[in-house]
Amino acid sequence: MIDLRSDTLTRPTDAMREAMARAEVGDDVYGEDPTVAALEERVAGMFGHEAALFTPTGSMANVLAVASVVSPGEEVLCDSSAHIARAELGAHGAISGITMRTWTGERGQLDLAAIEAMYAPDMGPFFVRTAAVSVENTHNFAGGAVLPIEDLRALRSWAEANETKVHLDGARLWNAHVATGTPLADYGRVTDVLAVCLSKGLGAPIGSLMVGSADAIAEARVRRKRMGGGMRQVGVLAAAGAYALDHHVERLADDHANARLLGEALGLDPEDIDTNIVVVERPDAASFVERAAADGVRIAAVGPRTVRLVTHLDVSRPDAERAAAVLSRLAGR
Ligand SMILES: *Cc1c(COP(=O)(O)O)cnc(C)c1O
Repeated sequence: MIDLRSDTLTRPTDAMREAMARAEVGDDVYGEDPTVAALEERVAGMFGHEAALFTPTGSMANVLAVASVVSPGEEVLCDSSAHIARAELGAHGAISGITMRTWTGERGQLDLAAIEAMYAPDMGPFFVRTAAVSVENTHNFAGGAVLPIEDLRALRSWAEANETKVHLDGARLWNAHVATGTPLADYGRVTDVLAVCLSKGLGAPIGSLMVGSADAIAEARVRRKRMGGGMRQVGVLAAAGAYALDHHVERLADDHANARLLGEALGLDPEDIDTNIVVVERPDAASFVERAAADGVRIAAVGPRTVRLVTHLDVSRPDAERAAAVLSRLAGR
């Protein structure tokens, strides 16, 4: 089976497992796990921020990150198909007491005019105050779309002029970085707080980080424990993440090339595939997925008429070529 359902399906490589086995560990709630501390410092430095916090999931990193810039009873603005709006099961409302309003961007893109129109300053006892804008790069449900750094810079200037913070859901920011060559520090400069995942295309079995100011991270460390996310000798997990950062970032370019091959097989313009996700409209999504599985290719129906394919560390070039042949035949091409 060639599994293209998600880039979360990767298994740690033998070399990664060796790095995990060798990791020095301690109780991280006591601040005594050197491998976790080193990973946090390294990732904060990559983005030019003061500090970072290791979390079990990207969802937890997002919940902590958004809560660091939006207080209960305030709102965050985001795209209508943002992961924080659709796929975190209401955590920002249920846990943090935060409300959201959304814009609908073409392919998950920023719409600064819509943001300006929605923005609500503090007006006392009348309207919910807009405390932050959240952006997602790359954009998952928009098919791995990249948000251009120029647009993020424009958002940043607007936000600074309007006392609004910027949160970046960077679960796949590594893919955007490799696809565009934009330095990670440039993304750090346009955001107050961000979240990144090690458990997607980078191939770690678990692990994400919230990145921000030292104060925000100190506060998030308390909130993480309150949520049951205080972890102990997790240097073994941080070591997998550090290994992934050393060995699995540049190779994301291979995933992007494989995704273009698959997109082309399905009749899409390869130019429209920014990174490692291919989203294609199929009137017969469920049966298309079933027929592909019967031919050894697992893909996902993410809507009644929408199919999604994701390339990753465990999909080689020959795998991608075989999957492309199967899919183009099923698509009648
Ligand atoms: C996967 C993902 C997350 C985090 O998901 P977890 O499963 O909680 O690690 C956050 N944002 C986006 C855009 C994602 O794709």
